[in-house]
Amino acid sequence: MAKTAIIFSPKYYEHNTGPDHPESPKRLAVIIRELEKLQLVSSKGNCRLVQPGLATIEDLELVHDPEHVQLVKRVCEGGGGLLDLGDTVVSPKSFDVSRFSVGGVIKAVNLVMGGKYRNAFALVRPPGHHAGPYYAAGFCVFNNIAIAATHLIRRLHLERVLILDVDAHHGNGTQEIFYKTKKTLYISLHEDPRVFPGTGFVEEIGEGEGLGYTVNIPFPFKTGDKSYLKAVDHIVVPIVREFSPQFILVSAGFDGYHGDPVAKLNLSNSAYAHVFSKILDLASTICGDRFVAVLEGGYNLSQLGKLVTSTISKMANLNYSVKDGDYPTRPRAEKRAEKVIKRVKKTHSTFWGSLHS
Ligand SMILES: [Zn+2]
Repeated sequence: MAKTAIIFSPKYYEHNTGPDHPESPKRLAVIIRELEKLQLVSSKGNCRLVQPGLATIEDLELVHDPEHVQLVKRVCEGGGGLLDLGDTVVSPKSFDVSRFSVGGVIKAVNLVMGGKYRNAFALVRPPGHHAGPYYAAGFCVFNNIAIAATHLIRRLHLERVLILDVDAHHGNGTQEIFYKTKKTLYISLHEDPRVFPGTGFVEEIGEGEGLGYTVNIPFPFKTGDKSYLKAVDHIVVPIVREFSPQFILVSAGFDGYHGDPVAKLNLSNSAYAHVFSKILDLASTICGDRFVAVLEGGYNLSQLGKLVTSTISKMANLNYSVKDGDYPTRPRAEKRAEKVIKRVKKTHSTFWGSLHS
């Protein structure tokens, strides 16, 4: 039996964002090229390529207001254009492609829940974590991962789902959708959110029964591996163990890689390898390996293929790692990041006893 499903369709290339847009079809092309180079998408071996399904309108409305869904449909049918005041742009085929993006993530969780695959990586676009109940934002049309989490809770009756967001930007949409529930724990590690998207500060911790179930770790610009991994080991791992999720979803953005043109963190390949090893270990000990990664950002076209391939190899127990070149560490940023880590631990020790130790 294949162990790792790679959800992908060439249809994802048909979401046309125009020339010079960082969220371009080339992103998936470089990933597929790298996977082919290592023969990870062949019919033998530990990985299998799986086609996405098409999400229904009911799927989209698990988290989105019907008016948002209709607006996207209308703009696409009218030839495409901007969905927000920024640069979330759609083309005539984007409505269907976005539905395949959501459908790809739903397919991934269904395959893992059904026991057909141990885990899955949904190589989808457009990405999703900035899209909220009523809006598109930050290149995201529908919130793929939030819809899949809601599908797991409402339709498959899970009670504890983790969304770990390692994209370099705060997943404002995902946070908003789950802010008042304790069934989904949202943990995000991201760069200083003051420039974009304006949310994701330490003090945003959830509301009502969701209090404590939103955990934000906002790093100063240029934070590197040292502090990032410390936050993973000292905040993420203990909280996840205590929450004990029945399913682990990861918003897998790779724009925290140093030299990404869209974000300003300073992470290396090995940081991502460490994070995914930790989270896969947690999935194995806590929830029977139920793990799905969903592609979000990552815009460095010379590295993205390697970063994703290295992650998929890890998921499939294959030995492939990428060597890092030299990259500068920034002691001042690390020092400021240390303070953030302390503040997050203090804020959340009220809700999570494991942070005391
Ligand atoms: Zn991002």
